[in-house]
Amino acid sequence: MSEREVFIGFGSNLGDRCFLINQALQALSDLPTISLKKLSSLYETAPVGYLEQGVFLNGVVLVKVSLSAFELLERLLCIENSLGRVRKERWGPRTIDLDILFYGDQKIDEVDLIVPHPELAKRIFVLEPLNEIAPAWLHPGFGGTISELLNQYKLKHPEEEPCRIVAASPGVALNEVKDGIFYRYG
Ligand code: ATP
Ligand code: CA
Ligand code: CA
Repeated sequence: MSEREVFIGFGSNLGDRCFLINQALQALSDLPTISLKKLSSLYETAPVGYLEQGVFLNGVVLVKVSLSAFELLERLLCIENSLGRVRKERWGPRTIDLDILFYGDQKIDEVDLIVPHPELAKRIFVLEPLNEIAPAWLHPGFGGTISELLNQYKLKHPEEEPCRIVAASPGVALNEVKDGIFYRYG
């Protein structure tokens, strides 16, 4: 199967968030069908939807994948389960959440998989890290780039605080970072 460029958004607001993100990235990179290419900084954001829960750490990773989108989703749900994800209320606290943001330039609209992720243009904690690693990436539905989407978002929400960059790291060792220092995958 041919390789696709895929963006995966991740978030955690329960437990040792940095450790869990590290574990999730490690589990992803351990899959023979996936290679990690670029990692965004980690951004800290207040929860949306259900507000009585911990602050999120979010980021985005660009991977190359030789799996179908559905096979990839299955792997992501497996990794979430292995890291103790329990689904109770929608948008409730989670040890780890892994969403497929883009699967190449494909559009998918099935019951259990919608790509590009339908909420991404409304989420600053997705747009900021995406813009960091792929500002010129074209959204196949919107027809514009990530940086255009981010600018539109900011025009619509001028009062909103920017996401705070917390950290990032060399390789997948996200737990070894110092505040504000960020390294990329080579
Ligand atoms: P949101 O999708 O609004 O970010 P969420 O991530 O909290 O909410 P989950 O409980 O993690 O939602 O996922 C519920 C289901 O969403 C998954 O089991 C999966 O089948 C479906 N889903 C649809 N599109 C996607 C996508 N692009 N990436 C990941 N899951 C998706
Ligand atoms: Ca999500
Ligand atoms: Ca999800």
